[in-house]
Amino acid sequence: MDCICKICGTKSNYIFNAVLLNKYDVKYYHCPKCDFIQTEEPYWFDEAYKYPINIEDTGLVSRNILLAKRTSSMLYFLFNKKGLFLDYAAGYGLFVRLMRDNGFDFYWSDIHTENLLAKGFEYNPAVHKNITLITVFECFEHFSDPIKEVKKLLNISPNIIFSTETFSKKVPAPNEWDYYGFSHGQHISFYSQKTLQTIAQKFGLNLYSNGKSYHLLTKKKISNFVFNYFLKVSLSGLPLFVKWRLGSKRLSDSIMIRNKRSL
Ligand SMILES: [Zn+2]
Repeated sequence: MDCICKICGTKSNYIFNAVLLNKYDVKYYHCPKCDFIQTEEPYWFDEAYKYPINIEDTGLVSRNILLAKRTSSMLYFLFNKKGLFLDYAAGYGLFVRLMRDNGFDFYWSDIHTENLLAKGFEYNPAVHKNITLITVFECFEHFSDPIKEVKKLLNISPNIIFSTETFSKKVPAPNEWDYYGFSHGQHISFYSQKTLQTIAQKFGLNLYSNGKSYHLLTKKKISNFVFNYFLKVSLSGLPLFVKWRLGSKRLSDSIMIRNKRSL
């Protein structure tokens, strides 16, 4: 059966079969035009999401700390730092808490996972209007219809920072790229820089990327040099400076929650 690329509509080529969740034999396809790799329709998803937070993902905490440093620098220097921000598919809420600790007014939303660490800061579209920027970490590879999802995100905010690991040059062989995630079966969409550029063009946006896993879609015009400069310096003491300038919300959040409880 023919497979049509979900990004650009070109006929995709079969590339290999892989066994997911130790039992489902699944076909993978590659688009010759935009480089997108997709699986056949994910009929195994219910089982793959028995544990919505992938329990194999031991990098969850360190990744969130790194993402908070990077994103703090980005938001402070390139966007309205006093704006409202949303972490979409925010999981347990670790990133939201870290960003609020750094002084940004961040909110949580996730339809699959319980909010454990950012309770009281759930996103409410009726209240939280004009979201300056939305963060979407480790989600694009889970999307079964990426274009529809990006449209949905753009309805919330015109600026999207997201992470997904991109492949470069040629299609990675099944045994060459852990990101295929055969054992958990949650990753079904894979992108190269060319794929992300195709998405950006489709929506009239600019793409900025570190060429690996950290990307920005925006109408704003900045240079890739500036984008990568702030990524680089975000690993220095810069996030501490940002936190000092903005003022952490840790204490004021705690007081606010205490006051709400006593009502
Ligand atoms: Zn395509």
